[in-house]
Amino acid sequence: MPFATLGLHPAFFEAIQALGYAAPTPVQTEAIPAVLRGTDVLAQAQTGSGKTAAYALPLLQRLWEHPMARGPHPVRTLVLVPTRELAQQVGDLLREVLRHLPRSTTDGPPPLKVAVVFGGVSINPQMMGLRGGADLVVATPGRLLDLVDSGALWLNKVQHLVLDEADRLLDLGFADELRAVLALLPARRQNLLLSATFPAEVQGLADALLRAPQRIQVPETAADLSRIEQHAYRVDTARRATLLRHLIDARGWRQTLVFVASQYAAEHLAFKLNRGGLSATAFHGGLTQGARREVLAGFKHGEADVLVTTDLAARGIDIAQLPVVVNFDLPRSAVDYVHRIGRTGRAGASGLAVSLVTAARLAHWQLIQKRQQLALPLEVVPGFEPTEADVPAAQDGDGNGGVKGKRPSKKDKLRAAAALAAHSNGPR
Ligand code: AMP
Repeated sequence: MPFATLGLHPAFFEAIQALGYAAPTPVQTEAIPAVLRGTDVLAQAQTGSGKTAAYALPLLQRLWEHPMARGPHPVRTLVLVPTRELAQQVGDLLREVLRHLPRSTTDGPPPLKVAVVFGGVSINPQMMGLRGGADLVVATPGRLLDLVDSGALWLNKVQHLVLDEADRLLDLGFADELRAVLALLPARRQNLLLSATFPAEVQGLADALLRAPQRIQVPETAADLSRIEQHAYRVDTARRATLLRHLIDARGWRQTLVFVASQYAAEHLAFKLNRGGLSATAFHGGLTQGARREVLAGFKHGEADVLVTTDLAARGIDIAQLPVVVNFDLPRSAVDYVHRIGRTGRAGASGLAVSLVTAARLAHWQLIQKRQQLALPLEVVPGFEPTEADVPAAQDGDGNGGVKGKRPSKKDKLRAAAALAAHSNGPR
């Protein structure tokens, strides 16, 4: 077991095997010994790098090796995450590992307890779940503070703090909540900060938080995305849905994650795909928490072939071996492009990322490529030859494929309809 060389206790091997991890990923190789030593860690790592287990395994071991006496479990490890989805994923991994740890004898220390708390759902079950305390709490910052305010938990015994996806925590406006949480923690503790990117605010947070951290860098640059096969298809705006359906059918894609620019577009495209005979669901921030969980679980378990989503799913969610990602609407930035396509090709598996490029977004696509040092050829799927005229860079700007003053004219539409009719018996 190559994990053994990192200092993990043999009691954890069964769990690692059950998770299907044959060998540690690079971030795990560096982080696990550092966390076990008690060092602060600053890791540049994306979802997909194995970052969760990189801190979850050694932190659980530290708690497991130092069991508390009977009585209420004080929070000893706090993991702060930006989204409910990530909270659930981290919680699932922790519980899976705990399930495989040797059970303590009746007179031994009580088993470790994990609690996962996040906003957008009723607070009462979470309060009940915290009765008797929890050794390890995974939380979004706002709900954590609510629970502290209502006396459901205390943070004055925290020994290990993890900020997972720190850039996203700050992006989502959690800076004030973070400050409030940090003020409740004891000064002496181990701090781990993980982030995909390091803008000035994240760097500032790291400087303020960490003492002589072990620095770990697993950058996801264009070169590191080599395991993902990337394609760009030129297509007319109005024919993207038909092309997508054609690709899904013709190439037998299963579990396709499709990114669009808005909640409305997600619903609209999912509706269209369903009407076309596929099983597609929309996933976005406008859904209730319950609906989001249900949709995601359904997609993970293969109940839907297509998940049409906004950038809500671009980071954080993890679906094992997601084979295909489609940029139906192009992402806003090159960084978002990496996050989106990084949903496939996870943990060493190969993946496919397809971007649909319309005339109006051609200049934007070229910019993304330049930033990512990519030079993908623009391909055309037979039967979907574009008819729209290219739009000069300066006019490309509505973020959604259409540009004012450059919408297809009546003549363009007639031409497109004629092309559609000509190919209606074509590719399917
Ligand atoms: P994460 O970056 O933590 O979101 O993990 C991404 C995916 O990689 C998850 O599906 C993990 O189960 C998987 N994973 C993590 N570590 C390993 C490993 N050592 N070997 C194989 N898969 C792993």
